[in-house]
Amino acid sequence: MLRTGLLWLSEQPRIFSIIRGSGLARRLASRFVAGETVEAAVAAVTQLNAAGIRASLDLLGESVASAAEARGARDTYLETLHRIRRAGADANVSVKLTQMGLAIDERLCVENLRAIIAEARDHGSFVRIDMEQSEYTERTLQLFRGTFHPEFGNAVGVVLQSYLRRTERDVEDMIALGARVRLCKGAYQEPPTVAFPDKRDVDANYVRCMERLLERGTYPGIATHDTAIIAHAKEFARRSGLAPQRFEFQMLYGVRRDLQRRLRREGYNVRVYVPFGSHWYPYLMRRLAERPANVVFLLGNIVRESLRRN
Ligand SMILES: Cc1cc2nc3c(=O)[nH]c(=O)nc-3n(C[C@H](O)[C@H](O)[C@H](O)COP(=O)(O)OP(=O)(O)OC[C@H]3O[C@@H](n4cnc5c(N)ncnc54)[C@H](O)[C@@H]3O)c2cc1C
Repeated sequence: MLRTGLLWLSEQPRIFSIIRGSGLARRLASRFVAGETVEAAVAAVTQLNAAGIRASLDLLGESVASAAEARGARDTYLETLHRIRRAGADANVSVKLTQMGLAIDERLCVENLRAIIAEARDHGSFVRIDMEQSEYTERTLQLFRGTFHPEFGNAVGVVLQSYLRRTERDVEDMIALGARVRLCKGAYQEPPTVAFPDKRDVDANYVRCMERLLERGTYPGIATHDTAIIAHAKEFARRSGLAPQRFEFQMLYGVRRDLQRRLRREGYNVRVYVPFGSHWYPYLMRRLAERPANVVFLLGNIVRESLRRN
């Protein structure tokens, strides 16, 4: 119920204009978002790098409404790649196709993303195409298979979500292509016709897909904070004789920092997804939906703040 409500709220942009003014919401957002500017994001990456942890920078903002906005987002990504290089930081970027204009004009989206991938590739970096709601899954994978991967090879990778019923097949397609995959559970509200409604099925599918990617995939990104799944990945890799350098664990900025550091100390590659920018509202709502304790924390603070004011 709570999760459904929060995911619904994440898609109501008008509510953002109210919430954006709240100091409390901004403080909570700052736990999950590195800051509103490229400088703040690169500073966060430098700190992670100091602990041996890599990063993927994500400019917040999805479903842009105009070509100018999409080009603006492209330019910010180009600048981000430039600043990562200048700072000597170990980071790549993650991009959403709707932010590049997919919902407005597919050609515009392709042009924008081509520019970003070319810039990344020319400097030995990498672009991950994030996966969005299921209405975009097929188009995202078609563009990846038909355009971006043939043109840029493994300078670009994609994301698959274990809550989708189709994902086991997509995993096999990506293995056949030799493409780099980040595997996550999936963060959006989806109908039961396309996604497993029961979390146990999502988790079981994650493990199946993860084992296939570890066995046959190309440097898979195991993106989860689920300690049982992480333990399974470690044990599976050990039993299969797979060196820790052949895959990486990925987690979100501000989530399970203790675990991120522990895995790094154990010798695993760890990459943290670092979001930045002013459009943090839908992202924050999705993070709250993942862990009801975060909402309790938020409500507790609101009550305390209002008691203090009275
Ligand atoms: C690097 C990375 C990239 C991602 N990219 C995408 C993408 O492109 N598309 C997409 O749909 N989704 C993406 N996601 C989000 C993902 O789909 C999940 O929604 C999210 O990771 C939570 O699932 P989980 O695997 O951690 O498992 P869960 O079963 O949800 O959580 C396992 C445990 O992790 C902890 N935890 C999880 N989330 C939080 C939180 N927000 N705050 C505090 N603790 C938490 C809790 O202790 C929980 O018990 C990404 C996630 C990561 C880590």
